[in-house]
Amino acid sequence: MKKSNNHMSGLSTNRRKFLKATVTLAGMTMLGHFNSNMAGAEDNKKTITIRGHHLFDMLDALGTGKSSHKTLGPVAQKIRANPKVPLKIVVGMDDICSPCEWWDHEKMQCKRGVDKYPKDNENSSTSDKNAIRVLGMKEGDVMNADDIYRLIKTKVTKKVFAEEVCVACRLVDNCAKTYETKIETAIKALSESGCVSS
Ligand code: SF4
Repeated sequence: MKKSNNHMSGLSTNRRKFLKATVTLAGMTMLGHFNSNMAGAEDNKKTITIRGHHLFDMLDALGTGKSSHKTLGPVAQKIRANPKVPLKIVVGMDDICSPCEWWDHEKMQCKRGVDKYPKDNENSSTSDKNAIRVLGMKEGDVMNADDIYRLIKTKVTKKVFAEEVCVACRLVDNCAKTYETKIETAIKALSESGCVSS
């Protein structure tokens, strides 16, 4: 009997060890999954810094999900995937300019076409400020992306876009032609993520 009991208790100990190891492994797996989900969730909450006029430059990429621009495209994709992401609205360098090959980090300005169009940087900053003013915001204000695009749709008509926001930009006439379609498409794409009601 005693031998049998020992045998039974031996089996039971092994079984306990086995179960403990299984539970620990399962817990680790679940924890890993939880942690990666948490990391994803945290990533989604990370504030993205956007200069005022890039809110408008991103419209096409937000609507279509496509962009050939190496640094604007990925930022637009992040917003598209998570329309609740907070955007901090600034004048000058943002998360699109900062990693861009054209950004001069010493002079804190864009080098692209600067010889041919020396006023471009000044005009871009003016458009940044105009966008912030027209939206009733202050530089550095933070708002969820879906709320900002809802605000844009309400406050920035084609006329306001052309005559108040991007008025100083040499490309404004071209952009104004497609502005209404692009804002509609962007709002639709963001609402399909379940976050924006148009
Ligand atoms: S650095 Fe110039 S080209 Fe690059 S994203 Fe900024 S404004 Fe555009």
